[in-house]
Amino acid sequence: MRTVDEYRDGILAGIGVLSPIELPLSSAHGCVLAADVAAPWPLPSFDNSSMDGYAVLAADVAGATPDRPAVLLVVDDVPAGYRSTEAVTPGTAVRIMTGAPMPDGADAVVPVERTDGGTEQVSITEPVDPGAYIRRAAEDVTAGEVVLTAGTLIGARQVGILAAVGCGLVFVHPRPRVAVISTGSELVEPGLPLRRGLISDSNSYLLVAAAREAGADAYRIGPIMDDEKEFLTTVEDQLHRCDLILTSGGVSMGAYDTVKAVLSTLGTVDFCKVAMNPGMPQGHGFVGQERVPIVTLPGNPVSSYISFENFVRPALRRMRGLADLLRPEFQVTLGAALESPAGKRQFARARFTAPGVVVPTGTGQGSHVMGGLAVAEALIVIPEDVTRVEAGDTVTVMDLRAP
Ligand code: AMP
Ligand code: MG
Repeated sequence: MRTVDEYRDGILAGIGVLSPIELPLSSAHGCVLAADVAAPWPLPSFDNSSMDGYAVLAADVAGATPDRPAVLLVVDDVPAGYRSTEAVTPGTAVRIMTGAPMPDGADAVVPVERTDGGTEQVSITEPVDPGAYIRRAAEDVTAGEVVLTAGTLIGARQVGILAAVGCGLVFVHPRPRVAVISTGSELVEPGLPLRRGLISDSNSYLLVAAAREAGADAYRIGPIMDDEKEFLTTVEDQLHRCDLILTSGGVSMGAYDTVKAVLSTLGTVDFCKVAMNPGMPQGHGFVGQERVPIVTLPGNPVSSYISFENFVRPALRRMRGLADLLRPEFQVTLGAALESPAGKRQFARARFTAPGVVVPTGTGQGSHVMGGLAVAEALIVIPEDVTRVEAGDTVTVMDLRAP
């Protein structure tokens, strides 16, 4: 039996970062930058007004008061997006909107609130300092400056700066393409009526959703019957389409455990037991000439999900080019006692009742208890050598709340 860490290390040893490609900016959201991005132009790229008001010479309004306003001739009107053809000279002003380029000659902006808002001539009731309300070219970013470094995850704020510096195509590690194949002759498409003995295929939906939350482009195939030929054809069909294949079901000791029966004969997929609960039967390796990585997850829904969390999510993050592969773990207080099998690391489903306090969810910790999984916010990680934890004990949890 392998430990959780040994098994995960074995999977990760065969997983590399996906080769970078150029993607349009909108598609690059959620990807990891593969190269530094430098600004081709400065930000702001020209001196511009930070207020709606009047571009003036500060000296012209030096003595202005409400009783003795400075009166200037308005020689032009510049909205954002236009450049004034008039220069500001002594005794004149240009009406200017936020973001419009500063006209030649002007050295300050008077906010409209300190004026009468005139369009032919304007009365200004307060002085301004030279340079007031001007956003200077390059005060934010200089031309050639690196705005984002390779390895950065592109979230909303990073999309913003990339757009601002005109980066329409971005060199990134792409999202891994993941095919999820659920196997089991008992499975039907959710929404279809259940005849006796049949169940809805929940795993493939859950796994696709989990893979997407982990940053993959995941899609589902199946459910397919426990039929060796059908399974092999389905896997072969995916080889040129995806970066990782996930299967669910058919890897334990049953008579119809198709996944294991078919893939064991290839010699490139390793099936073993992992000292964990739930999720003991596991398999991983490579298939086809393309050597596409495959992870064969157990069929019990909770086992399937917990195996995904421990083994697949880190692999997907590695493929994406992220450095942090594992979920954050921290110590909390346990609200109710829990049993744990000797010799196995248990991942018990739990929710927070207060900051730093968790209680187990669901009707026990069986690998079929989906209700408890659905409301879980964390997994309590109970070490291999511990068989019982009491209310009030400090335990480690893996936080599931962040995607
Ligand atoms: P297996 O690993 O194929 O022996 O399946 C173990 C248990 O998980 C059985 O009770 C299956 O019916 C159930 N199971 C397998 N695949 C799925 C699935 N895709 N959705 C829900 N339950 C499943
Ligand atoms: Mg099965």
